[in-house]
Amino acid sequence: NDLVVYNFSAGPAMMPPEVVAQIQKELVSYKNSEMSVMEISHRSELYAEMFQEAKNDFRDLLAIPAGYKILFLQGGASLQFTTVPLNLARKTKQIAFIDTGHWSQTAIDDAHLLTDRKVDVVATGKKSNYTTLPHDIKLEKEYDYVHLTINNTIEGTMYRKLPDLGGQTVVGDISSNILGYQHDVSKYGLLYASAQKNIGPAGLTLVVVKEDLLDQDQDLPSMLDYVKLIKEDSNLNTPPVFPIYAAGLVFKWLKQQGGVKQMQAQNEEKTGILYDMLDNSKLFYATANQADRSLTNVPFTTGDKTLDAKFIAQADEMGLKNLKGHVLAGGMRASMYNAFPLEGVKALVQCLQKFESAHK
Ligand code: PMP
Repeated sequence: NDLVVYNFSAGPAMMPPEVVAQIQKELVSYKNSEMSVMEISHRSELYAEMFQEAKNDFRDLLAIPAGYKILFLQGGASLQFTTVPLNLARKTKQIAFIDTGHWSQTAIDDAHLLTDRKVDVVATGKKSNYTTLPHDIKLEKEYDYVHLTINNTIEGTMYRKLPDLGGQTVVGDISSNILGYQHDVSKYGLLYASAQKNIGPAGLTLVVVKEDLLDQDQDLPSMLDYVKLIKEDSNLNTPPVFPIYAAGLVFKWLKQQGGVKQMQAQNEEKTGILYDMLDNSKLFYATANQADRSLTNVPFTTGDKTLDAKFIAQADEMGLKNLKGHVLAGGMRASMYNAFPLEGVKALVQCLQKFESAHK
């Protein structure tokens, strides 16, 4: 079977092949310990070294300033929809949300369940069916924070520049473009992301939080309490050792590749080739508003469900996998994170052109 496969999955998504090969090579005996990394204790020296190295590399890659703490957690980005308000909405108990589509709405719904917090949706992209991001945002009171989904995985939009939020604390969900875009951490009070898109296997969630926003006297359930988790350096209960190990290898790979700056340039190039093709096509079009387009997730369609399904099936046969759009959006979606190769985008463009010629 010599079919070359390109995996366009939105997450869990493809990892760097070199990293997967390295995992295979050292899976049976981690650092010649004669134990698999899946078998080592989270209280062992081997683990401590691995974790600290991963954390330091992550700090370098994301250029995290002093005063910010890093947490390696579980529960996905979804658990942060609850953990963030519990920890950060404690003074005014009021939170502002920007509604940019599905994942922001899920965050809003979960915040609403904390009935002693007040949730204000201060801007929405609803009128555009979430193809366009709100940029003109008026905050009429003091909030504990303003929440934005920085890259909208399903709708294919991203904030390249944060809107003017009057100096209020900003919380960003960067699940689908963490380490793929040069986020300026200093502009945020907190950033969070799950790992299974742009980093490694599912099971790890990264949180970066400005420490002086935290109330050292709070007493939340342990697994939801940033203060307790920071105190134990993300080792309050058994951490996801294997996903942390794999993430650590991806961080090393990223450093070898030239870091986030290089990744962003490559992501601009990869998505640029696809957007160009779609903008010049008479059959296909990208659904997101040009100025707000994502560098990692590109939803597109012919506008005809039957034709879309036909394209997805044909692409699949050619080795272009997982191009079916999210169930909520329909159509197609090409997710191309850091590990996704340029040749894969070129193969997709060729496949699109061939399909278009056959459907004139
Ligand atoms: N936020 C965004 C932007 C996402 O894309 C996703 C996952 N698709 C989530 C949150 C939820 O992440 P998880 O499945 O890790 O809870």
